[in-house]
Amino acid sequence: MKEFTYNALPGHIIFGAGKLQSLSVEIDRLGCQRVMVLTTPEQSSQGDMVKELIGDRWVASFNRATMHVPTEIVDQALDVAETANIDCVVGIGGGSTIGLGKALALRTELPIVAIPTTYAGSEMTPIWGLTENGIKKTGRDPRVLPTSVIYDPELSLSLPPFISGPSGINAIAHCVEALYAPDANPITSLIAEEGINAISSSLATVVNEPENKEARTKALYGAYLAGSALAAVGMSLHHKLCHTLGGSFDLPHADVHTIILPYATRYNADAAPEAMLRICRAMGTTDAARGLYELNRSIGAKSGLKDIGFEEGDIEKAADIATQNPYANPALITQKGIIKLLTDAYHGVCP
Ligand code: NAD
Repeated sequence: MKEFTYNALPGHIIFGAGKLQSLSVEIDRLGCQRVMVLTTPEQSSQGDMVKELIGDRWVASFNRATMHVPTEIVDQALDVAETANIDCVVGIGGGSTIGLGKALALRTELPIVAIPTTYAGSEMTPIWGLTENGIKKTGRDPRVLPTSVIYDPELSLSLPPFISGPSGINAIAHCVEALYAPDANPITSLIAEEGINAISSSLATVVNEPENKEARTKALYGAYLAGSALAAVGMSLHHKLCHTLGGSFDLPHADVHTIILPYATRYNADAAPEAMLRICRAMGTTDAARGLYELNRSIGAKSGLKDIGFEEGDIEKAADIATQNPYANPALITQKGIIKLLTDAYHGVCP
């Protein structure tokens, strides 16, 4: 076996149907007395449910969490937090809400209790993102890693199929790139392979039977693993392309991940044979890129970049941006190769 270094991160994970009920005990365990609840506007009622559970330790709610964490929203939330003199942040929602909690923690160093309701995986990572004047910056900081995470699959039953499907593929993308990351190790690879298996075997049921608790539980377990993999290793071509397309062309985050993943996988297939074997084993397929493409079909995902508002004439510009700065990737990154990848992804052809 090869030598390795693994920067394992701390975290208190509570997983299971109905586990939201343990929130109060968790807040006691952390010794917190003045709690602020974060949600998006759409999840305000879940925020109210959390407020009830917190009881007299609740001091404020903020329901304006927004995709990609705009700095003006962070400033507004910070005002509320300071006025209420909070000592803990509870975020219930997807990556946008948890991202806002992280932005507050970055400034205040307060503990976060994250209650994820999508499969994005942000709750397990020390990665923050902030958008100022339309430009998204990201970074890593141990202060933004949630102190506690409560995974309750019952809270994800209301996640609509058109968000559930791409959100699950977003999580698989973390696992795929973790498998060929330069700093991958035997533990992160185990986590990533198990994550792909858990999500790929449950996602079609999640989408077709949104109230199926068993499938929801398996997908959420996969999301936890995917977030853990993303937290521990560096990401490559796939995440870089998605960041470019989401940030510079304002395309929806999880849909971009879903469309790009089979093509990024094909691009790296010959240069990362061990990762491809593991993806195939996890999904029960013989070709990783095609298996991911077929999974997308089975969840009714949008097939090409043409379907989500990307213009064919922007392919070259996107390839320029994505190849500007060098980064680690199994296959050599070339302008020509990325243009072909994006052209295939634009039309949604079988990779
Ligand atoms: P999201 O948080 O924006 O949620 C999408 C929509 O679904 C929102 O309107 C939300 O309120 C709603 N929703 C969520 N759960 C629901 C439920 N159970 N029932 C009904 N509606 C529900 O989407 P996301 O994909 O989870 O997060 C995307 C953001 O997270 C992006 O900004 C991305 O960059 C970031 N992200 C960060 C990391 C990280 O490690 N920092 C990892 C993954 C994603």
